[in-house]
Amino acid sequence: MNNLIKRIGVLTSGGDAPGMNAAVRGVVRTAAYYKIEAAAIFKGYQGLIDNDIKMMNPRSVNNIINKGGTILKSARCLEFHSPEGRKKAYETIVKNEIDALVVIGGDGSFTGAMIFQSEFDFPVIGIPGTIDNDIFGTSHTIGYDTALNTVIDAIDKIRDTAISHNRLFFVEVMGRDAGHIALNTGIGAGAEEILIPEENMGLKRLLESLSRSEKSGKSSSIVVIAEGDKTGKNVFQIAEYIEKNMPNYEVRVSVLGHMQRGGRPSCFDRVLASRMAVKAVESLVGDKTNFMVGLKEDEIILTPLDKAIKGKSSINKDLVRVSDILSL
Ligand code: ADP
Repeated sequence: MNNLIKRIGVLTSGGDAPGMNAAVRGVVRTAAYYKIEAAAIFKGYQGLIDNDIKMMNPRSVNNIINKGGTILKSARCLEFHSPEGRKKAYETIVKNEIDALVVIGGDGSFTGAMIFQSEFDFPVIGIPGTIDNDIFGTSHTIGYDTALNTVIDAIDKIRDTAISHNRLFFVEVMGRDAGHIALNTGIGAGAEEILIPEENMGLKRLLESLSRSEKSGKSSSIVVIAEGDKTGKNVFQIAEYIEKNMPNYEVRVSVLGHMQRGGRPSCFDRVLASRMAVKAVESLVGDKTNFMVGLKEDEIILTPLDKAIKGKSSINKDLVRVSDILSL
């Protein structure tokens, strides 16, 4: 046991994700279990620069496990990109006698954490919290499962109206660089086609496929498109192209947007966040630092932070195949 760690700081950074609160709760309570104090840092790295810090105890995190968003607030902090900003952050750490940091966030937050760690030789542990599931070293990030369920719910509703009016709906979901949300919700919601950043389907092929479906008797269809799909066109341009070429369909676009980030975390995300939080604190207690916690085959594992940042999370190609077969 590392007796040098007497106080752990915890922050949430970057894009918020449902389940971040469960992770904060887990960190605060596990720290208390090991007789370590917990300091909440507000608004991500900005709170370190502004000295926006509050001591927590197990009761401070009552009734938050079921809440979306993050009670610690999150922020994108430009100042932390500069050595001067990080120096200010370190001064806050020293002033508040914080001995280690748990960073709940995505790729960007981990990059900042790693630079900070190397500049000041300061122990950090990352917990992956992002709805995009685009982080190497974990099969699931906190918030991803909830986002999938939110999207499925929305597409089911869109399907009801699509069927009633013979409409072709293009639904844009989040995922600038990763198609996990689009691919999984597309299959789960029975989409006709799924466009993702990892595969280049091309507009012509999309048109051919939709025309085939129309001929086979489909009167309405749903196409799920990730924000960053490879066609180089946005969802409205794609819809316009298809509408021009398929005059029998009424085409509509629905951009789901930020609602995908919100809502009560699913049970899966709450359990995942709780397990990851326990592992994060126990790693620091066990003198293991500069790792990211992750999930692999239902085990909570550690991946060196630099590997987690540099590694690429890849889509499951079998899902592409399944989608192709079932959209017949
Ligand atoms: P996410 O963690 O969800 O990927 P961002 O990419 O916005 O979100 O990163 C969150 C924050 O992490 C940034 O606002 C910044 O404070 C910090 N950060 C990101 N990249 C760096 C970097 N290269 N150097 C220092 N800090 C960084």
